[in-house]
Amino acid sequence: MSGHPHNSAFYRFKIGRFDCLSVSDGSYDYDPMHLLTDMPGERVEQILRDHNLRTDKLISPYTFLFVDTGDHKILVDMGAGKLGPNTGKLVSSLKAAGIRPEDIDTIFITHAHPDHIGGTLDDEGNPNYSNARYFMWKNEWDFWFSDEASGKITEHLSQLLPTEVFMKIARGQLGPVKDRIELITEESEILQGIHVHFTPGHTPGHMVVSFSSEGEELFNVGDAILFPFLIERPDLRPIVDIVPDMADVSKRRLCDLLAEKKTWVLAQHFHPFPSLGHIVKKGKAWQWQPVQL
Ligand SMILES: [Zn+2]
Repeated sequence: MSGHPHNSAFYRFKIGRFDCLSVSDGSYDYDPMHLLTDMPGERVEQILRDHNLRTDKLISPYTFLFVDTGDHKILVDMGAGKLGPNTGKLVSSLKAAGIRPEDIDTIFITHAHPDHIGGTLDDEGNPNYSNARYFMWKNEWDFWFSDEASGKITEHLSQLLPTEVFMKIARGQLGPVKDRIELITEESEILQGIHVHFTPGHTPGHMVVSFSSEGEELFNVGDAILFPFLIERPDLRPIVDIVPDMADVSKRRLCDLLAEKKTWVLAQHFHPFPSLGHIVKKGKAWQWQPVQL
């Protein structure tokens, strides 16, 4: 793999023969107290201080992956759209890198949280990526269009945004492109060198996508791994994981796999941009090693 000097909108690198870009959709500030609600505030603050993080907010880049395999132009997730004051930049960042949204033919949807699918449609309600077909895990689609979804969202995520916002974005953004979405039910090689991995827990049908070419491999982990301090402290269970036991199993399995295979990792919310690096085993936990720019 080789990298090039970067700006704040995109970062170019290669995985084997695949031309890859880390692309910025912007960033978002989370209140760390909204993540770990099952412990007193002072303990959360102490954990953050232990990891050299600020205690008033978790600053999350919103970083997404574009891959040109030569045969296909692929995007994983579509960014947050107008979710926050500093989000919704994915299309302009892609254009800055010389990618035309209409040239993207394949989009993988890791899960249907607003920060990952809020940018499906433009302001007029038309698909931002007008010629793409989409892949999404069937359980994920079924969950968001089920009657149980809003209760689960209220239980796990309503401290972040009102439940109706989650529901409206998932159904409102994905509903109109329903006919272009292929629902996946098993782990498989979707395109040459490109595999989908079932990693449920953060949401019921969360998936991870891997890209391999000429002996190099990159995993786009979505929110199966949310923030670096949560792999250093894998015992912590963020309330935002809808099925916490499954999220715990998925996270540990995935971290072990990534560390063992020494693959490149692109994690949507890992600081700093381009959110690219390696995960290494450290004792019974893991550690994030960002790429040296
Ligand atoms: Zn996310």
